[in-house]
Amino acid sequence: MSSAKVNKHEQEKQRIEQVLKMLAIHYPQVETGLVYDNPFQLLVATVLSAQTTDQQVNKITARLFDAFPTAYEMARIKPADLEPYLRRVGLYRYKARYLVEASKIIVEQHGGRVPDQFKELIKLPGVGRKTANIILSSAFGIPAIAVDTHVFRVSKRLNLADEKNAELVEKQLETVVPVEDWVDTHHRLIAHGRTLCQARNPQCKNCFLNEWCSF
Ligand code: SF4
Repeated sequence: MSSAKVNKHEQEKQRIEQVLKMLAIHYPQVETGLVYDNPFQLLVATVLSAQTTDQQVNKITARLFDAFPTAYEMARIKPADLEPYLRRVGLYRYKARYLVEASKIIVEQHGGRVPDQFKELIKLPGVGRKTANIILSSAFGIPAIAVDTHVFRVSKRLNLADEKNAELVEKQLETVVPVEDWVDTHHRLIAHGRTLCQARNPQCKNCFLNEWCSF
């Protein structure tokens, strides 16, 4: 590599380190907004959170988890029995079906416990890469970067990634973010996307990352 290229590479590395540092300073305590007590409840809440806010999900899960505290109770019912509990979240009929089917698989193939392996998680109905990574990182403490709409948009604006789909952005983030910061960076990018770097109206003038962002 020529010395000019080495310098550019080093500058970019330092820029990214600064971005991650500033995110950590501004969002020191980060965690999911979903309320849950165990991996099964996190799985249920995360599936329900698709196209629904965390606050809306939290409004219904207390009653839901009282009625169906584990996969065993949810595996025994029909999706129609679950629907009355889910009516206040979007796409509730699909979600009811996914959750009952996923519960059956968890009971029949995993002894009632949510698996802690990515390849098993994504076999569960309603669980894609994003949900699987959230469960791995938040329920089991396994490093993973879940790429949702905020992480995708903000990491691209900040030039932490430039790929076109979430899976490739996830891989790029895994190379530029130190592994011990994967989980927190996921939460910090979401926090930034919700507060300053919103999809339609990013508050660039007031943004503490303005200096390091070329958007
Ligand atoms: S400067 Fe603007 S685009 Fe860049 S991270 Fe901040 S709000 Fe987002």
